[in-house]
Amino acid sequence: MLILKHVGLILRIRALSRPITVMAKHLKPRTFCITPVRPEMQVSSSWTTCTISKKIVRWEIWKQPPPPAAPANPPYVLEQSSDKGIKMVARRPIAMGELIALERPLVVSRTDVAIAEDQSTTGIFYRAALSGLSPAARNTIKSLRNSFGPEQEPILGTLLTNYQPVTIPDADTEYSGLFPTLCRANHACSPNANFFFNSRSFTGQFHAVRAIATGEEITALYCELAASRQERRAELQEHYKFLCECPTCSLPADLVAQSDSRRRAIGKLIPMMHAGAYADDLTVARIEELLGWATDEGLYALYAEILVYGFGLATKLGASNQARKWSQLAATAFKVLDGADSPRLN
Ligand SMILES: [Zn+2]
Repeated sequence: MLILKHVGLILRIRALSRPITVMAKHLKPRTFCITPVRPEMQVSSSWTTCTISKKIVRWEIWKQPPPPAAPANPPYVLEQSSDKGIKMVARRPIAMGELIALERPLVVSRTDVAIAEDQSTTGIFYRAALSGLSPAARNTIKSLRNSFGPEQEPILGTLLTNYQPVTIPDADTEYSGLFPTLCRANHACSPNANFFFNSRSFTGQFHAVRAIATGEEITALYCELAASRQERRAELQEHYKFLCECPTCSLPADLVAQSDSRRRAIGKLIPMMHAGAYADDLTVARIEELLGWATDEGLYALYAEILVYGFGLATKLGASNQARKWSQLAATAFKVLDGADSPRLN
């Protein structure tokens, strides 16, 4: 067990796939503890094998029964693509809302995962962390993409490239996890799968947000989608070092302009949605328009958020039938995004 105290760090925070770099001067020095949770387990097991935070080790989840099994015959295969490394591909038709994949993370740490200014220190820290993993788990991590190249210590670069949010209700900070299969899905600006972390079973899950045909690539989001193509490409280039050429980014110029203006309009609504605030001139008709655009743009998670926001607006305006309709549609959307035991259905 290695204990390392970090003072004066540069931290990279990846919250809901939006990486931000901040100086650590706002944060107190912390002690990290690297602990194998199930060191005897192999990568094929469903148990997390390692955490990089003392606090996570104490979570009650480790006393719970193993999580539900992943689909016995997964509806996907991992294939080598000609241009994007490994990709996840549907090997049969997948229905909207279907569970595509489910797994425990191999590694969990605080999202503000430490990056020492001295890269050699960072390297020692993370190599020690991974030495507690099984050889199969270590090899899996080594095989994953590291978008950062020489600017980052290799293991940390791999973690930062592939981390997904691990959302714990009432947690005092944010956590991230490495899901070795889910992280193989490539990005698309109108993704057909939604990543959801189920804190009850401590599993990362992909659910199909629309019907997916045999042979179609299964995609997730790596950046803010309620933004223009230029903004999305800039974010992806900065944090993942690739130029997005997904179907949405490859549309003809006039359709890109239309897509950009719709996504920007939805993006403008997001701060209001998070604040639960309603502009005086916001109408039910405008929400209907934005819901239509979110659907046309393939932004299913945002569609669900707008439904909840619209429910609040309709309630405020006394439009009870409209509120009931949007509430029911939101419940259906959450089941699609998160599965039947979505905490957002409560
Ligand atoms: Zn794109």
